[in-house]
Amino acid sequence: MSQNPSPPRFQNWAGTASSQPRAWIAPQNEAEIADTLSRAGREGRTVKVVGAGHSWSDIACSDGYLLQLDRMQRVVRVDHARQQITVQAGIRLHRLVAAMAQHGMTLPVIGSVTQQSIAGAIATGTHGSAPSLGCLSSRVVGLRLVSADGRVVSASLDKDRDLLHAAQVHIGALGVLSEVTLATVPAFHLREEQSVQPFDDVLRDLPQIIDSAPYVKLWWLPHCDSILLSRCYPTTRASDLSRVSHFLDEKVVNRWLFSGILRWASLRPADIPRVNQVVAAAYFRPRTRHGPNTSVLPVPMPPIHEETEYAFPRKHAGAALSGLRDLIARHRVRINFPAELRFVAADAAWLSPTGGQDSACLGAYIGCGMGRDRADYFAAFEELMTSLSARPHWGKQFSVGKNYLQRVYPGFDRFVALRQTLDPQRLFQNDFLRRTLGD
Ligand SMILES: Cc1cc2nc3c(=O)[nH]c(=O)nc-3n(C[C@H](O)[C@H](O)[C@H](O)COP(=O)(O)OP(=O)(O)OC[C@H]3O[C@@H](n4cnc5c(N)ncnc54)[C@H](O)[C@@H]3O)c2cc1C
Repeated sequence: MSQNPSPPRFQNWAGTASSQPRAWIAPQNEAEIADTLSRAGREGRTVKVVGAGHSWSDIACSDGYLLQLDRMQRVVRVDHARQQITVQAGIRLHRLVAAMAQHGMTLPVIGSVTQQSIAGAIATGTHGSAPSLGCLSSRVVGLRLVSADGRVVSASLDKDRDLLHAAQVHIGALGVLSEVTLATVPAFHLREEQSVQPFDDVLRDLPQIIDSAPYVKLWWLPHCDSILLSRCYPTTRASDLSRVSHFLDEKVVNRWLFSGILRWASLRPADIPRVNQVVAAAYFRPRTRHGPNTSVLPVPMPPIHEETEYAFPRKHAGAALSGLRDLIARHRVRINFPAELRFVAADAAWLSPTGGQDSACLGAYIGCGMGRDRADYFAAFEELMTSLSARPHWGKQFSVGKNYLQRVYPGFDRFVALRQTLDPQRLFQNDFLRRTLGD
């Protein structure tokens, strides 16, 4: 097991959370994980696992031992008959979908990027946008977890279903996930159709739009009058995706051009509405493309920015979207990043933001360095979201705490009780869990 003697600071992808761990540890198997837990227990230290550090919240921060499972990224088993794959919990999503593709399998749901680890992605209820499909956690049909006392416990649909539904969205509170089994589907291609529609037409037609395709998402660049609508349909057409244009989008347009625009906008916020209109005219355009679902659904890596996002019953989607436009006008905030409206089907995980209800997820995003505008935007957005009893994305920024969360999650008390059984000494404690679950 490797341990860095002079541990670097941990900082998340967006630079919105950081901590100084006592040590970084890279275990290779469950026995090494158990050794670390027992050592931490003896020394009175806490333990956290960091996946890819792609959460905006401080959910992965620790001043104790920080485990990273980058050496635990193997495929353990492929069950063709049941269309399932079992992987070590540290595997990154891009490696996971590549491994699945070798067996003619895929994940039907995938979020905007694939840098995350599988254990980290399910920790927060990571989702894509498919009205009839659940979040990534809903694909988890089995798992193994090293609990605070070093025991390996397992759960599946056939055995200890309660633990399975608790750990499907585990927020890092229950133990160290070592293995995850996922339900897959045969690999398939999608045709993406992007169109641009007036904001008010989208508001009027939203219920029909949501049901109009298997994959639907909306992007709205604040201060503009139109919305980019992306819809995807299964197809048998061969891929027409260009690696070169993906490379250019990711490494040139997003890394340099949009990053530059964001930096400039943070210095001249008064220009943001005009700049947004130019950007929307240039980039929000109709287009059609075809390719494997795992290439069509993710977007090129965006420039560093900040995000908050809440999930709520789908019937509130129109009110939420128009409420977002109103609050930006009312608070006179200048917003230089698209807002995103996505749709996720109900799932059974106790702490899933989309648990038990077909949901819409509205994300409010902004470039870094936007000071007052960011603070006012996120505060007003949270006020709107809490008025809908919406649930925050665990991996994004939010300020609601235990009392609110207990009210909006029917499974909250059960989760807290299970945590008490699995981690009575709070080996996996950090500030995030203190705020959200209590001591
Ligand atoms: C550019 C970008 C795009 C994104 N797009 C989307 C999107 O489309 N949809 C969406 O829903 N979210 C999205 N997210 C959010 C992201 O998917 C989540 O925050 C996710 O949880 C991050 O995964 P991670 O591997 O980085 O986990 P981390 O952020 O490192 O950790 C998350 C939690 O998991 C715990 N954890 C990690 N591994 C283990 C383990 N083996 N055992 C126990 N606990 C563990 C950590 O302790 C922590 O509590 C995006 C984030 C970024 C930066």
